[in-house]
Amino acid sequence: MAKTVLITGGSRGIGRATAVLFASKGWNVAFSYFGNQKSADETCAKCERAGYTGNVLARKCDVRDELSVIDLFTAARERFGSIEGVVNNAGIVAPQSSIAEMDVERMKTVFDTNILGAYLVAREAARTLHSGTAIVNVSSMAAKLGAPGEYIDYAGSKGAIDALTIGLAKELGPMGIRVNAIRPGIIETDIHASGGHPDRAAELGPTCPLGRSGDPEEVAHSIFWLISPDASYVTGSIMDVSGGR
Ligand code: NAP
Repeated sequence: MAKTVLITGGSRGIGRATAVLFASKGWNVAFSYFGNQKSADETCAKCERAGYTGNVLARKCDVRDELSVIDLFTAARERFGSIEGVVNNAGIVAPQSSIAEMDVERMKTVFDTNILGAYLVAREAARTLHSGTAIVNVSSMAAKLGAPGEYIDYAGSKGAIDALTIGLAKELGPMGIRVNAIRPGIIETDIHASGGHPDRAAELGPTCPLGRSGDPEEVAHSIFWLISPDASYVTGSIMDVSGGR
């Protein structure tokens, strides 16, 4: 029987690449989108083209909303039965700014989406998963670099994801559930345009030790490995996927 992965924020970027990769490996894919139905449909089409046994479910979900997150997990369980992997991926940046210029509403939106949202997803995962399953939280190199002058609020929210990963791995390890995180570096997705700097990946990529930005697919492979049984003795780890940045 095919295994099932649940991915938040699968309509674009890293979440979409991860959905397509799991589908190509024969997994069922349940993914969420926030408001971008057209992109979600495109992810479904790509999964269906890539998958040889799996099925795909797209569900609208706002990770800031407790009931919406519960509904996502319920829909995935009703459609596919059990869930074997959760990718806690949905996340946002706000327009680049110094902290002196940040208003409280912006900070609340970033923290609610990236911290509260990730914790709600982690809670539902803990309530749903069983022994032999795994969670990957999507952090960021910003947690280590601090994102000064750009997104210091975002960097702090990703520091929280690192702490969540360490605690959750210890809490769920005795139940046979592994929890790890990845810290992507500069990856070519829409998130940079959301931050008001669409060329950010092209401009900063060459400053990375590997001399380029990363593709979402390269991040997806790391996530897949961490969820897969090939990583059976890996838990509580936070892997930089950043070209050395
Ligand atoms: P992206 O291309 O901007 O996609 C963001 C995804 O999150 C979309 O699927 C979006 O849905 C969804 N989303 C936004 N707000 C949401 C909410 N309130 N509830 C549920 N879903 C929501 O971003 P990305 O670059 O792939 O980023 C994915 C993850 O990687 C994020 O956690 C990000 O912080 C992290 N990351 C990215 C980079 C990078 O360079 N790209 C680097 C480090 C870490 P809609 O399509 O419906 O809007």
